[in-house]
Amino acid sequence: MKVTVLGSGSAYGCPMVFNKWRNANPSNPKNIRSRASVLIETQGKYFLIDAGPEFRQQINDNNIPDINAVFITHGHYDHIAGIPELPRASKNIGHPIEIWASQETMNELKSTFYYLFNGEEPEGVGLQWKILPNDGVFESCGVRFETFQVPHHSLRCSAFRCEDFAYVADWQDLPEQALGHLQDLDVLLIECNNGLYPEVNGHGDLEKIKHFTSIIKPQKTILTHLSARVDFEETKKELSTSFELAFDGMIVNV
Ligand SMILES: [Zn+2]
Ligand SMILES: [Zn+2]
Repeated sequence: MKVTVLGSGSAYGCPMVFNKWRNANPSNPKNIRSRASVLIETQGKYFLIDAGPEFRQQINDNNIPDINAVFITHGHYDHIAGIPELPRASKNIGHPIEIWASQETMNELKSTFYYLFNGEEPEGVGLQWKILPNDGVFESCGVRFETFQVPHHSLRCSAFRCEDFAYVADWQDLPEQALGHLQDLDVLLIECNNGLYPEVNGHGDLEKIKHFTSIIKPQKTILTHLSARVDFEETKKELSTSFELAFDGMIVNV
């Protein structure tokens, strides 16, 4: 399985608008981060997790040739703003794209992007909307995935596991049930928005991640969805050898 981190940034990207870098050193290209998105390539199929505001650029920059399905973690704009480009994407690749979201997230998509659901968008016929279970196994394009939910602000964010790889996007806690899905992992890719600076803002930080990984013990933990407060080198210094920091374009073979 090949995993590409298409975007390693938090909701505001890095640099943020008006070239604001906060702690991140502008001279390190690994601090240039687009909004969080991940591509899993397995069994000849391409699965995109989240389609944010840089969807088009990320697909083009990484020369991604196809998308068979898109899994949406939750309804915040940094994870969904690229969805209206999917009808055109489907037309350009010449086959339908499955879009999976939990019932809660699907309800949000239906109100945010109503024109994709009411027939106003003629190319929207290329999209196949599918409801994700809140917790359990599902099959997309012949590939088996597990999904489960983690709390994030007042909503629930869907996380995904495929074989021994798991991706947990925005989260503030990992309940017992989530930990059950995260045993025996080769690679855990997880949101670490706050890095070395814990904050009560619905997101993960290094301290919390160290706590949970000491329980589930993945072979490798990769931190992503990093805000502009997270400087690549400063944070890397604090990481043991089983941790890595994601960057845009990072490829992980699992
Ligand atoms: Zn986010
Ligand atoms: Zn979010």
